[in-house]
Amino acid sequence: MSPILAINGLSKQFGGVTALAGVDLAIEEGEILGVVGPNGSGKTTLFNVVTGVHRPSGGTVLFRGQDITGLKPHAISRAGIGYTFQQAMAFAGLGVLENVRIAGEHVGTDSTANPWPTPQALLDFVGLSAVANEKAGVLPFGSLRLLGLALALATRPSLLLLDEPAAGLNDRETTALVGLVRQLPGHGISVCVIDHDMKLMQMLCRRLAVLDFGSKISDGPTEAVLADPKVLEVYLGG
Ligand code: ADP
Repeated sequence: MSPILAINGLSKQFGGVTALAGVDLAIEEGEILGVVGPNGSGKTTLFNVVTGVHRPSGGTVLFRGQDITGLKPHAISRAGIGYTFQQAMAFAGLGVLENVRIAGEHVGTDSTANPWPTPQALLDFVGLSAVANEKAGVLPFGSLRLLGLALALATRPSLLLLDEPAAGLNDRETTALVGLVRQLPGHGISVCVIDHDMKLMQMLCRRLAVLDFGSKISDGPTEAVLADPKVLEVYLGG
């Protein structure tokens, strides 16, 4: 099967800084891929280029075989790539359910199967039904994260990009989030996660890709990547 996302020779310069230096990366249909790397290795830039926040300096991004390189964020979102931010993007003054309903007005993939046909069904999935009518602004941090996931899913992506999804969550909240994310491939949603929390990545991902100074230095089954001498050198300061 061809990958859902194919990144080829992707590079990005910010002035004299090379944030991405010719990255090749494929996300397979139905997988949860982790992208790890030290601070400044290019993870966020990779997401920003894929989602259209930044135009790449070179290379291409193919989504389901379609060239989406350099398209605007709304066009990429409409094509079916969803993402969550570290900061929740909910409207604080609106109700939780209302936020999900509004997010669903910007629908991505025109797929036939919709695992969560109503905003309420999505709230049930992420476990926020009990606070459906609360204002988003009063939710505790952990719940706001779950709402962020619901908002991203409301756009009906076929590929979901997660940026440090568990940052600031306690162990119980992290376990709940991992449980939800691991269900997504079963609902036809492929996932790519960036994080530097290796424990989380081991829980979530069967495959990891590692960036260092804007280049991919390792890519493969999680256990093999974590035992890769090149990766150990980067993480242990070699
Ligand atoms: P990571 O997410 O792995 O921490 P980033 O993608 O944020 O890495 O950063 C990669 C490199 O690109 C860093 O050197 C960073 O300073 C630089 N960079 C990222 N975004 C910008 C920007 N908007 N302007 C200038 N430099 C940037």
